[in-house]
Amino acid sequence: MQATRIERLTSSLVRDILAVATRPGMISFAGGLPAEEGLFRPQDAGIDLNAFPDNLWQYGMSEGEPALREWVAQRASGMGLECSPEQVLILSGSQQGIDLVAKLLVDESTDILVESPAYLAALQVFRLFGARMHDIRQDEEGAMPSALAAAPQARFAYFTPTFQNPTGRCATPERRAELAGLCDRRGLTVFEDDPYRDLSFDAPPPAPLVSHLAKSRWIYQGSFSKTLSPGLRLGYLVAHPDLITPLVRLKQAADLHTNRLSQFIVLLALQQGLVERHVASNLPLYRERRDAMHAVLQEKLAGEASWVKPSGGLFFWLQLQRKIDGMALLQEALERGLAFMPGDPFFAGQPEYPALRLNFSHSTPEEIRRGVAILAELLGR
Ligand code: PMP
Repeated sequence: MQATRIERLTSSLVRDILAVATRPGMISFAGGLPAEEGLFRPQDAGIDLNAFPDNLWQYGMSEGEPALREWVAQRASGMGLECSPEQVLILSGSQQGIDLVAKLLVDESTDILVESPAYLAALQVFRLFGARMHDIRQDEEGAMPSALAAAPQARFAYFTPTFQNPTGRCATPERRAELAGLCDRRGLTVFEDDPYRDLSFDAPPPAPLVSHLAKSRWIYQGSFSKTLSPGLRLGYLVAHPDLITPLVRLKQAADLHTNRLSQFIVLLALQQGLVERHVASNLPLYRERRDAMHAVLQEKLAGEASWVKPSGGLFFWLQLQRKIDGMALLQEALERGLAFMPGDPFFAGQPEYPALRLNFSHSTPEEIRRGVAILAELLGR
């Protein structure tokens, strides 16, 4: 016998595809992987193990290292999200934040609102805990206020307004304020997921959506996975004062605390200004890859698909003109040495339209050109 929720535990399509996509010779547009040459490697950055405190190997605090919580609170406050270090919880990757928030807010049949489409692995967690998910349609600026206003009553809304996974879209300040006003009026708790903020190719992105809230409770989270290295498994959340205590208890129940080695590596890197430098040196590489993908998509797939050139993040989201069987297309692509993500699993309910998600950060411009050419051939161009 297993818990009934296990019936809702779908295999992670991303994990399955990634397993195939990492085979030698494969061109992978599938995962949200940072560039290999862009990973933060502490040994290369001159991080000195001897500079770590001697008690590092002992158990630490569930909330996280105080100096790192302080940094997160300062960063959030600097973005217009006034908060204190007591409202910060350090996570084993921001995926853990999704799990903890689901445990905090989702009962069997709890109604929640999610963007359509939304981050696949968040949908899987919400589904596992029994949420009834309702879609909020998006336009080019992200979630549409009219769709939010018309959505059923719900306990919380999950938003990724900054270079969203999968669409790459970024909501304007006006759109954020409008959505926040609606959430306030409807008494909706807001969960904002923000791992891509620092991967911005143009102007810095607008202040978080939750910074516009006047009344509603909120949780805001970020990650070091995309800016430094996902292998660090380091993220953080900041929460409304009513929510932080139960979240810390849930964290304690899950894993006592986040790996202290990762926390100290990042703390030291922050103190030495290495994080900012690392991100700044990666941006030209990502911009070049984004531009390469945009150019070859225009050459090969204009007319077959439409997309918004992302101004940050890691993804192109192709809306296809014709209906396709995404999984069959993927199967054919894998045989030709190309991996990507079919769009359907990013929709909580019925897919609104046929789509594909293409990651541009992990492939060289040459691989990008070859990969898109394969895709265009498979789509009959
Ligand atoms: N949220 C979003 C929107 C993501 O795209 C990802 C990673 N793909 C995560 C959370 C989880 O990231 P991590 O656990 O590595 O911080």
